[in-house]
Amino acid sequence: AIWNLGSINLDLVYSLSHFPAAGETLAAQAFHRYLGGKGANMSVAGARAGATVHHIGAVGTDGAEMVGKLTDTGVKTDHIAKVPVATGHAVISVVAGTDGDAGENQIILFPGANQTLTKAQVAQALDGAKAGDIFVTQNETNMQVEACRMAAEKGLRVCYAAAPFDADAVAAVLPYLDFLILNEVEAAQLAEATGQQPEALGVRDVIITLGSKGARHIDCTTGQTHDVKAFRVEPVDTTGAGDTFTGYVLAGLDQGQSMAEAMETANRAGAVMVTRHGTSDVIPTLAEVNAADLT
Ligand code: ADP
Repeated sequence: AIWNLGSINLDLVYSLSHFPAAGETLAAQAFHRYLGGKGANMSVAGARAGATVHHIGAVGTDGAEMVGKLTDTGVKTDHIAKVPVATGHAVISVVAGTDGDAGENQIILFPGANQTLTKAQVAQALDGAKAGDIFVTQNETNMQVEACRMAAEKGLRVCYAAAPFDADAVAAVLPYLDFLILNEVEAAQLAEATGQQPEALGVRDVIITLGSKGARHIDCTTGQTHDVKAFRVEPVDTTGAGDTFTGYVLAGLDQGQSMAEAMETANRAGAVMVTRHGTSDVIPTLAEVNAADLT
């Protein structure tokens, strides 16, 4: 099984004619609400890839809808706490049309319940985990360091997705990691912050996703690298590609696949994902990924 300590957000997306100026009241042209947060996205991806995924997180009293969306995709939600603060949410303004700021967005993020996880909650959740299971977390909640340490002590394989990037956050979890997953920008930020190449960090496996260039695995024990080339697709929306890739890679590893096999499927899933508008709602299922006509 996969144990994901991660954020759960309500994404409120407003389509506007322009960004409002100070003091202006502006009616939106369209409105959608989605399940978001890197944590939730990875849980959905893992579940759609066929893995058993337990999400460890927190929502507010207004969070039943988000928990429901996770449950609907097959994610186990028993370890999502309900706390008396707002569910994490993002207010996202997108300018419609083709003029001026068209296509640009502005995002207000309120972490809310995502910052209220407790050590007792994590310990209780991990009581249900067994050695060899996979633990994953990102940088959108509290308790990451403690949770990585507890998971490592229990013999879980510990993975950290270094997003949103924070050099101190990576440094703090590094001693507990088996896997580190980064995109190209985060990998550059990490090299800059540490002055070291990823293989020198003491982590067993590093995966760097490279967008339209595919992905690279570095086996840090041997120093060997393995690249997968991206499939050729017409991207329309790249949000959530990295989260989808991570969920799929971990699902493959959890099911006993080699890193090369897991990355092959994850690379397919990422390619399908960028051809779709949306985020957690459109993360493809394994059946869709296998059926996709990719070259
Ligand atoms: P992030 O969303 O974290 O920035 P990437 O952009 O590196 O992550 O994308 C993650 C994965 O999704 C890539 O490794 C690749 O497998 C797939 N992917 C992303 N962009 C494309 C693209 N333009 N064409 C094909 N596959 C892509």
